[in-house]
Amino acid sequence: MQTGGSWRCQLSRTMRLALRWCRPHRAEHRGGRAGGSVSQLWSYTKVMLKSLYYNSLSDSDTLFDCVFEPIYWFVDNVTRWFGVVFVSLVVMLTSSVVIIIYVFVIPTIIRRYPVYLSCWHLCCGHWLLVMISFHYYKATTTAAGHPPKHKVHVPAVSMCKRCIAPKPARTHHCSICSTCVLKMDHHCPWLNNCVGHFNHRYFFSFCLYMTLGCIYSSISSGSLFLEAYNAVESYYQTPPPEFTLMETTSHKCIIFLWVLTSSVAVALGGLTLWHAILISRGETSVERHINKKEAKRLRESGRVFRNPYHYGRVNNWKLMFGVEKRSHWLSRVLLPSAHPPKGDGIVWDLVFKRDPMAI
Ligand SMILES: [Zn+2]
Ligand SMILES: [Zn+2]
Repeated sequence: MQTGGSWRCQLSRTMRLALRWCRPHRAEHRGGRAGGSVSQLWSYTKVMLKSLYYNSLSDSDTLFDCVFEPIYWFVDNVTRWFGVVFVSLVVMLTSSVVIIIYVFVIPTIIRRYPVYLSCWHLCCGHWLLVMISFHYYKATTTAAGHPPKHKVHVPAVSMCKRCIAPKPARTHHCSICSTCVLKMDHHCPWLNNCVGHFNHRYFFSFCLYMTLGCIYSSISSGSLFLEAYNAVESYYQTPPPEFTLMETTSHKCIIFLWVLTSSVAVALGGLTLWHAILISRGETSVERHINKKEAKRLRESGRVFRNPYHYGRVNNWKLMFGVEKRSHWLSRVLLPSAHPPKGDGIVWDLVFKRDPMAI
């Protein structure tokens, strides 16, 4: 009996304590304020949570970055692996186009056209092939350029919070490469490489010559495509026309060649045009977004934004291709050239001080 009484006594005491804990404090009633232990507990929890991540530099961006960190990690890793697949795809598709041209298009050109036209096609096609192969190889294998790691005095404009290292002007962090990149333009999965100070020219030249090559292939194989298309249409006639295996293969290959080169010419042509506009403005893809924001901010306060790296349209192109004298337009733009870009990508001449390309 005594045990049962003690058990009931303990339960009633616990319930009384719980009720008292849930009831608002008398002191708060006396002060005329609403709230109680629950609100106090909520306040303590908020303080505790804030104390875990809060510092004077924290803001909502920091919090969102933390929340989305696993997603960024996943996307970065997938992009890194997709880079290998994309590069293999570029090599395979380009090789297939070249093989089809050698096997089916060039013999037809030599058979049908006069000698001087055949020679022109052979020279033009091979020049484009050399330019595409050279610039793609250089764009994928040349490092974009990174700030020096063991140098103490690096002229920097900010700190990279990922690398915990000084960040020179025009440098940005690439989360896929996990490093800072000098004059970063973007990370290109088709090159599996970052596009920056030391390979920007190779990237742009590749886009330009690939677009020209696709336009050239598409136009020069246009009549062959129409013939092949009509032949494929006739497959379904009764009785079906008699084609050899070689002929049917050539029809399908030429249709594949024309559709692929025309599609790439349109898609890559748009991208090349966009990059040409950026180069004319003296901006990288990253800077386009930053400058747009900055221009808007200054416009609202009645001021005008001026890009400090815009040296004038012609000078921007000269800087991009490394043209220092007239003959360079031929030797450095129209022919393969492995010359390095002007400057180290760390120190930049600002257009407001002096013209860096007074040539
Ligand atoms: Zn960094
Ligand atoms: Zn990168």
